[in-house]
Amino acid sequence: MALYSETVMDHFRHPRNVGVIENADGVGEVGNAKCGDIMKIYLKIENDTISDVKFETFGCASAIASSSMATELIKGKPVSEAMTLTNQAVAEALEGLPAHKLHCSVLAEEAIQKALEDYAQRSGTPGPVSPSP
Ligand SMILES: [Zn+2]
Repeated sequence: MALYSETVMDHFRHPRNVGVIENADGVGEVGNAKCGDIMKIYLKIENDTISDVKFETFGCASAIASSSMATELIKGKPVSEAMTLTNQAVAEALEGLPAHKLHCSVLAEEAIQKALEDYAQRSGTPGPVSPSP
């Protein structure tokens, strides 16, 4: 019995979007103590759309495959859509993860949320819009 699906192995062996974006519009870094994964996501955002995304992940196969798949899922998508990305969607796109490795896909979701929050802060979130006088 293979522990990981073929899709997981493919993304683990050939991760997409690995790297760093200089002058990223949003950066999110998260980690988990469970298997020592550290994940960093960089976002380039133009016109409220994720024009580019890169990641650096030091961790287990699940963490690397999850961040690779998560970046593929949000690339080219509107910010609002990227915000709704869930770890379930990542795990599903990977054709499943072992139950004890699901926290690694949660990490990808959290890192992307953090990067989006960072972007919102930097760009001055259009919070509740006050009516103009
Ligand atoms: Zn892990």
